[in-house]
Amino acid sequence: MSYDVIIGLEVHVQLQTVSKIFCGCSTAFNPDQPNVQTCPVCLGLPGALPVLNAEAFRLAVKTALALNCQIAGFTKWDRKQYFYPDLPKGYQISQYDLPFSHDGHVDVVTEADGGAVRRVRILRAHLEEDAGKNMHDESGRGRDSLVDLNRAGTPLVEIVTHPDLRSAEEARLFLQDLRLLLTDIGVSDCNMQEGSLRCDANVNLHVHQPDGSKVATPIVEVKNINSFRFTEQAILHEVERQWELYQKTKQTIKDAPKSTRGFDPARGVTYAMREKEEAADYRYFPDPDLVPVTVTDEQIATLRGELGELPAARRARYRDQYQLSAYDAGVIIDQGREYSRYFEVVAEGCGDGKQAANWLTQDVQRELNERGLTIATFPVPADVLADLLKRVTNKQLTIKAAREVFGALLEGEETATTARIEAIVAERGLAIVQDDGAIDAAIADVIARNPKPVADFKAGKQQAAGALIGQVMRAVKGADPQQVRERLIAKLSE
Ligand code: ZN
Ligand code: MN
Repeated sequence: MSYDVIIGLEVHVQLQTVSKIFCGCSTAFNPDQPNVQTCPVCLGLPGALPVLNAEAFRLAVKTALALNCQIAGFTKWDRKQYFYPDLPKGYQISQYDLPFSHDGHVDVVTEADGGAVRRVRILRAHLEEDAGKNMHDESGRGRDSLVDLNRAGTPLVEIVTHPDLRSAEEARLFLQDLRLLLTDIGVSDCNMQEGSLRCDANVNLHVHQPDGSKVATPIVEVKNINSFRFTEQAILHEVERQWELYQKTKQTIKDAPKSTRGFDPARGVTYAMREKEEAADYRYFPDPDLVPVTVTDEQIATLRGELGELPAARRARYRDQYQLSAYDAGVIIDQGREYSRYFEVVAEGCGDGKQAANWLTQDVQRELNERGLTIATFPVPADVLADLLKRVTNKQLTIKAAREVFGALLEGEETATTARIEAIVAERGLAIVQDDGAIDAAIADVIARNPKPVADFKAGKQQAAGALIGQVMRAVKGADPQQVRERLIAKLSE
């Protein structure tokens, strides 16, 4: 007997606004100074009234458009009631039956180099406020818990997928693609350590029966997972656990309600939390303090226009236009829009996209890592690197010499310039000697002085040429080894 793994995700993404969704308090991540970014609205004091932050709504619509969602022309706000210390009002302002967007999809590439694609349908994306954060005394002595409300009222988009994912790995890839997409369009930093992207995973199994039918196991929601790796581990553990439980109990979705579990990264296991609330338990009702929002087609068109070229389209273009492998294109696009723009200037400028990609993914990336820089602060501008690489394409510099120039440019205090490349090449005599006469004279001399290797080569020992090339290179400093090899072999083959 075997089974299919069925996974749907609910992802909370913090939008990158300066102020909170219903008040003017700062959204800065500031755990060291608890409760300083608060006011009567986000503290839930009596009589305080919320006002929608237009920027939060704009970013939310951009998020939904990037997820290929339909945007509702009319949307309203609902109160979701529950009691928890980090929720001062006793309810969360969210969206229930009329979310601002619905019915989108994300295509996840599940194999390297453009293999299988999994289409993950998006059921809905709605906008809501975040709660605060409870901090429990972990010293083992006290029984105190503290609440930090700096985060209360931060704008969140909650993205709910259909149960279209079929493995823990696919779930991780979906989240990674989602982070790439949302950081690329600039709506969120998706920093998982700071809780800007959190995930709940709904997991169950469809167990194949001997008669060809399938039986579903009870759905388990694993709450608040805050890393890609933990998401994968939590799902893997949950699949194993549910499979063992099914074999023992034969319990199906009809026998048990949906339940909620947490994930303990230290032990790599999920643990029981509480029975899952149903929508009725939250007693949703429209928030009387907030007016509904209407969105026009013109507003949607404007925001769609601001999205620009999304990562998946850019990846395809890099493969067509610059002949990059899916891997190299992915490495560049993963670094963000500014990095992608840098790459394009280098690729266009030197006329060789593959060479540009090699330099960016190796030499440039290594320097950025070692120096703790971003491409925006990198001291070699894109047009200067393009000029350097063009000298390689034009056979004015060897790759080895270009690396030496690159290193010298980085040693300088100032931003690199093409004039500086010119000076370094001249100072160090790095230019390839184009003087065919000098190379041919050196070849003739070396052949005359080395009868043994020459005879060996003519007898078919190709390796014998190596020693001769070395001698010519020493005689004509700055010669292109490729050119020397070609001319020497031509001469020996006469
Ligand atoms: Zn506030
Ligand atoms: Mn939510």
